[in-house]
Amino acid sequence: MDSLQLFLDQFKARGEAETVWLKEIFGFISEHLCPELSEPAPLAADDVVTGVCAGQLSVCLVKKLQENVAVTHVLPVSYRLVSVSALLSLQHLACVSNLSWTTNQHRAWEKEVELPGHQALPRVNLLLIGCLKEGRAGEWRLTDASGSVRCECLSLSPLWLNRPVFLPHWNYIPHNALGQNHEVRGYVELIGSPALLCPGPEQGFAASPGEGAGLSRAVGVREAAGLLYNRTRGQRISVFGLVASVCPQLVVAGTTFFCFWLTDESHTVRVLVKDINRQWWTQCVYVGLSVCVTELRVCVLRGWRGNDILCVTEQSELHTNYTHTDTLLDTPPPHLMSHVDSEDCEEVEPETDKAGLRMKKSRVISYQGTVTQVVSDGAGLYVIDRKVGLCLAYQPTLRRKLRAGDSVELHHVHFLYRPCPDFPPSMLCTCLRSSLRVIAFSGVGGAPPPDSGWLPRLLLEKNTGVSEYLWTCHLSSKLAHSLVPSLLKQRSVAVLSWKLMESVWRRGRGGRRDIYSEMLDEPHTCPLSKYTTGPKVHQYLSISALIGSLYSECWSSVSLSSLLPPGGSSLSRSQLNTALAWSCRTLTSDLQDGPQTGDAPGRRPLLLVGMLELPTQTSEPTLQLRDATGAVACVVTETSPDGGQRAAFNSAWIGCLVCVEQFTMVTERFLQSDFPSYQHLDQDKYITNKHCRVYLQFSLDSLHILSPSVAMATHLGQRGEELGSDVTDRRQTLEAEETERATTASRKRRREASSVTVTTNPVGGGFRPCVSLVIRVEQKEGVAQKNTAAALKVEEAGLTRCFSVKAVVVGPVVSWGRDPKNGPVTDKEMETEQEDKVVLVLSGGSARWFPLLQPGCFYRLTAPNTQDPRVLIGRGVSGQRGVELHTDPTLQVRSDWRLHTLTRPPLQALSPTVLSVSEVLDSRSEMVCFQAQVCDRISLSDRTSSPGAGVCAGVRLTVWDQSGRTLQVYLDFSHTPYPPGLLPGNTLLLSAFQRRVSRSGGVYCRSLPVSSITVTSLGDASSARPPSAPMMHLGVWAVRDQSGIVGQVRGHVVCFLFLQLEWSCSLCGSPYLQTCSSSQCLSTSSVFQSKAKLVMDDGTGEAHVWFSGALVPPLLGLADSQWEGLQRALRVRGHIRVTPRGRSLVCDSDDPLLHFLLCVCSSDVVCRQLSLTCRKTNQQRSEEMKRFSRGERDFMTRVTPPLQLTCLHLEDV
Ligand SMILES: [Zn+2]
Ligand SMILES: [Zn+2]
Repeated sequence: MDSLQLFLDQFKARGEAETVWLKEIFGFISEHLCPELSEPAPLAADDVVTGVCAGQLSVCLVKKLQENVAVTHVLPVSYRLVSVSALLSLQHLACVSNLSWTTNQHRAWEKEVELPGHQALPRVNLLLIGCLKEGRAGEWRLTDASGSVRCECLSLSPLWLNRPVFLPHWNYIPHNALGQNHEVRGYVELIGSPALLCPGPEQGFAASPGEGAGLSRAVGVREAAGLLYNRTRGQRISVFGLVASVCPQLVVAGTTFFCFWLTDESHTVRVLVKDINRQWWTQCVYVGLSVCVTELRVCVLRGWRGNDILCVTEQSELHTNYTHTDTLLDTPPPHLMSHVDSEDCEEVEPETDKAGLRMKKSRVISYQGTVTQVVSDGAGLYVIDRKVGLCLAYQPTLRRKLRAGDSVELHHVHFLYRPCPDFPPSMLCTCLRSSLRVIAFSGVGGAPPPDSGWLPRLLLEKNTGVSEYLWTCHLSSKLAHSLVPSLLKQRSVAVLSWKLMESVWRRGRGGRRDIYSEMLDEPHTCPLSKYTTGPKVHQYLSISALIGSLYSECWSSVSLSSLLPPGGSSLSRSQLNTALAWSCRTLTSDLQDGPQTGDAPGRRPLLLVGMLELPTQTSEPTLQLRDATGAVACVVTETSPDGGQRAAFNSAWIGCLVCVEQFTMVTERFLQSDFPSYQHLDQDKYITNKHCRVYLQFSLDSLHILSPSVAMATHLGQRGEELGSDVTDRRQTLEAEETERATTASRKRRREASSVTVTTNPVGGGFRPCVSLVIRVEQKEGVAQKNTAAALKVEEAGLTRCFSVKAVVVGPVVSWGRDPKNGPVTDKEMETEQEDKVVLVLSGGSARWFPLLQPGCFYRLTAPNTQDPRVLIGRGVSGQRGVELHTDPTLQVRSDWRLHTLTRPPLQALSPTVLSVSEVLDSRSEMVCFQAQVCDRISLSDRTSSPGAGVCAGVRLTVWDQSGRTLQVYLDFSHTPYPPGLLPGNTLLLSAFQRRVSRSGGVYCRSLPVSSITVTSLGDASSARPPSAPMMHLGVWAVRDQSGIVGQVRGHVVCFLFLQLEWSCSLCGSPYLQTCSSSQCLSTSSVFQSKAKLVMDDGTGEAHVWFSGALVPPLLGLADSQWEGLQRALRVRGHIRVTPRGRSLVCDSDDPLLHFLLCVCSSDVVCRQLSLTCRKTNQQRSEEMKRFSRGERDFMTRVTPPLQLTCLHLEDV
């Protein structure tokens, strides 16, 4: 009888549909499964045998299906068998199949497995059958005649190998279309056990005859451990025990192997599985399983210093769930943690690292949890149970990628607490000794986005610590957003991040990893045993994130009253609003001076990465740091060849990708307000306009160059040659690296796989003709908006940014076959008998060079795509030498011309005459160029005109030099861009300023349209105080004709000349009683003002010293409460003026307040030794004639007026 008919007879089909379905099953098995089964023994080639086989298998399958299906006695006709090849080629979505689910069960399952952002896998009615076979390197594959698919299983039994099976419950995960490896097609996740079709003879438990050291002679672990020490040559042993550890499968020099540990209560033995035909055991052994392994050989493992190890032989067999007749393996399963307590785990044994980071020891634990987030599959980073990080990077990559929703069991995993602040505090990290097993497959899809495994590859190569690795991974993910694609290629990001980590963490290549001792040694040591931790780990911020946080904190970080000077409550309206008009907040990148609130951009030191570039037409005339998210203006300085700080001058920095580690973030706040008095500061209605601007200050010397520009490579190469080996370590390595990068293109291509390549600023300019001219800048004008010739072009109509530079032409125009850029100066470029001068006019696009053109520096000006030297000759010059000219010729610099700073060979620079503050004060010339440190800055509000771009139109800077003399400089910004960096503490070069003398005789300076300001050295506000004002003797000071000087005086208070306390109107300054006394004003806001004048004697002479505001209460020795009481007492009468005439004055007044103040003024508390910092008042009274009467006679005498001083600071001696 036909086997199909026999089969159909066995299951009495109800209806046509069931008959068809049964026929399909039979047909499918004949076609796809039977050929596969007969393959090893090709005797089944004829149809009859196949028919018998198909009949038996079909009966078996349908019985299994009926067993599994939810409703009994019904055939699951809605399900159909699918061949492996059809599954792989047609199923493009991840799916789940479970024959036994009812609709309700399915819904319940969906609810259970769903995760935020991840849908449960869709259900399909597909049936899978096939043979489970061994694939490459320990894979299990489900095979039928059409093909095979990889199977991932939770636990496999060796009994299932090479057997036909039916899978009742499985997930199918198709290959990721974007994945790199197309061989890795989809795979099936086997949930639960497969159902064996036509079960064969039970294998294993009955030892087959001929087995030498088979199960019958199996020994326990203790006995096996003993045999390892006293082994007999050629002896084979069988061991049973509990699996204690399963190390990951490794491939070393083409050999695939893994090892596992067997244990009993007291002993352990290690078993090495090197046989390629036993690699499938990896999926059968797991921690806690009892097994018996037969036919093991004792061998010595080359490369491992430890004891002998048991090796699997070709005859070895694995028996799982083994129970030995004699011994009951009742060792309790290892303790599993499902949550980790931070307190519990912070087991610290601090040792201090040289970088100030603490070294901690990790703890080895076992853990069970569910993957909730795939942070980076490529980097091996996950989150378990929403709060515990998992790092698998120290193990080989898993064959099956972990998905969110997977339940995992980890044994011998390292627990680390706060290894990296960018990750969850609790981190689990696996090493080569750790066992990772998936105990339940995720029910959700959502394959993680593919990312390259560059970082683990670098880790394998460089072998750094885990804290460093985690930091690099986080940085890499951030940089991938902020640098790709505009500045970097994706693959460069990993290399760049690694390089950055090495320079920031000062790390090099770690020691070699000893894989055998890591897997097999006891006690265990590995790269994860120790890790660094500390709060000072740098935090990377993108430019836009940095700017965003600074803008958002601009006003929230400050209260208006804190912006006022001491004694701010006594300021009149105009003083108050002027004091508020400009303020500044500076934060250093290490955030040491930041507010203690901790909400600022973190309390960790900050790190920025970006490319240095010239300003655009619309941005501030400073260098910029740019990444793909934004750009920020930077005030930069650089160390000049003579060692001093100066403004950035080297054009080679343009186009360099750099890391900025030390910088200052500056937020300048501009506030237009009309507060009547101090009491109104909380009322926002008085603010008419407020805005802020943000920029950075740093020195170029503190940058790490991540990818140099071509010019920088040339510059460093030249310097490297010159300095030879005589440079510091860090520089040397940097230069060596950068120089190497600048070599030929072919070498570059070869290295491209690992080096960082900047995609912008292509290496252009080579092999193109150009002409050049070497110049030395003598003087630079400030940038102004001007109507220039260039502006006549349509696209630049109207006002354009413009400045000019006066320069000396060092040599003739030279033509080149290719752009010389900043290469060394040739003799040809220098041959000249006399130096001509030229005025370079830079406007529009070429005005971008402003930040880098500095007086005293040499530049090569190149005009591309021409061989005509005339383009570089200034107008009005015939081009022949020896022509006398009365005016300097001008040269309009076109926007495509380039300027390259020349540093080699060192050219003799003639610095322009730069004066100090003292020299300016004593000078007689009208135009001055001087350098000075800013100590104070106030905005000059011009209420009649609307300030440009909302920025105050004028600024008054108080600058000083080391002698302590000060000078006031008035800057007008109504027609020029507002320069950043005019901050207390910074040193400025003020060029072409007008020196003027006021009517009172004081010297001050003011800006002219040609004036320029350059920040030459960066300081912080705390350094805006000179070392200390010089000690002055009053006798000497009185006769020295110097204004603007601040000095310290130590002397005794002789007497009070007067003391005035009053409530006055904050608006008009009139006396105030309930309301303003002025009939025009009638204001209701008042301020309390105080003034005092006394006579001071230091033994060399006398002076009259003025005190006001906040200095008065400490002068009088009054506490805050007494001072407030005094203010209250004066509310009624408005003011009081006390004029004690010497100490001996008798108080005859009835006024108790006057009496009190008279007593205070003449008390020993007030008439004491004081140390004062004073400024000599500009207007000193000239000698005058005085008339005295003595009896009947009048005497006329010439009296030298006393020295007039204003006290700035007071200290008790
Ligand atoms: Zn370890
Ligand atoms: Zn008034």
